[in-house]
Amino acid sequence: MELLDGKKIATEIKAEIAIEVKNLKANGKKVPHLAAVLVGDDGASQTYVNSKVKSCEEVGFKSTLVRLNKDITENELLTQINLLNNDDSVDGFIIQLPLPKHINEEKILLAVAPEKDVDGFHPMNVGRMALNMPTYLPATPKGILELLKRYNISTEGKHCVVIGRSNIVGLPMSILMARKNKIGNCTVTLCHSKTKNLKEETLRADIIIAALGIPEFLKGDMVKKGATIIDVGITRVQDHSKKSGFRIVGDVDFKAVSPKCSYISPVPGGVGLMTVVSLLQNTLSAAKEEFYKKTINFNLDEV
Ligand code: NAD
Repeated sequence: MELLDGKKIATEIKAEIAIEVKNLKANGKKVPHLAAVLVGDDGASQTYVNSKVKSCEEVGFKSTLVRLNKDITENELLTQINLLNNDDSVDGFIIQLPLPKHINEEKILLAVAPEKDVDGFHPMNVGRMALNMPTYLPATPKGILELLKRYNISTEGKHCVVIGRSNIVGLPMSILMARKNKIGNCTVTLCHSKTKNLKEETLRADIIIAALGIPEFLKGDMVKKGATIIDVGITRVQDHSKKSGFRIVGDVDFKAVSPKCSYISPVPGGVGLMTVVSLLQNTLSAAKEEFYKKTINFNLDEV
């Protein structure tokens, strides 16, 4: 069994991005600028946003954190988005989810200009992703593709089971693994809470991507020998032995599953770190106008 070391790969990619930023500067270009909008004071959301801002600093990006009160109205938030859409100094921005209940998330995501949507959540970018056109890919699935690529894991013709069909992880992941690309070309089964006999599905899988948010859900007897396991889950479980009072647990029963598989991503230290790095890559693409202003060249062999 080999660990898919998200920390190591994320560090490598950050170093690569930092070099690109230096080159941009050396050529008289401005450094990429990511803005993050945080509504309210949810602890987990603050942690995620802080790590995104910190990562920007590490690679030499400019970052702006826009903190808004949890009672902000939908219209006030839309006004803020409009300001960011029209601010030429901002290359891309994200709205940290979840939003307070009184705000319509769909309406907010639609308001983000697609060319600045570095989270890849706007329907325009989701459509481009589905059609295998160049675009911002949602950060977590993009990070998983990168992890598979950098570990030279062959996916072509493999049977991939994705557990969970959320708009930000499971659904796009299932599309990406089926696309006609080097990391892709899988036969994909998308499982969710209404799936019958999930164990039958996972036992047939060469690659399992667990993204359902139930700690240690995937057990040893649900996994075929030699499978590749990607654990996306992040659940805070109370743990008084920790200073924070909690520990982070994934969706995979690591102790039982790891001896059976060929590759496995740990939690923490796996997909989570790749997610932040993917956001940086998307922001760099935005700064370089890779998807929206330059001419898009397709490599027909890959489509
Ligand atoms: P979500 O809560 O939006 O959706 C969960 C999905 O799991 C649903 O589609 C549901 O149908 C499915 N599901 C629930 N119970 C199931 C069951 N018993 N069997 C099969 N399917 C079931 O989830 P999400 O936002 O995609 O997040 C999933 C997990 O991934 C969470 O733990 C979240 O914290 C984590 N996450 C991690 C990262 C990262 O960077 N590592 C990013 C996003 C989410």
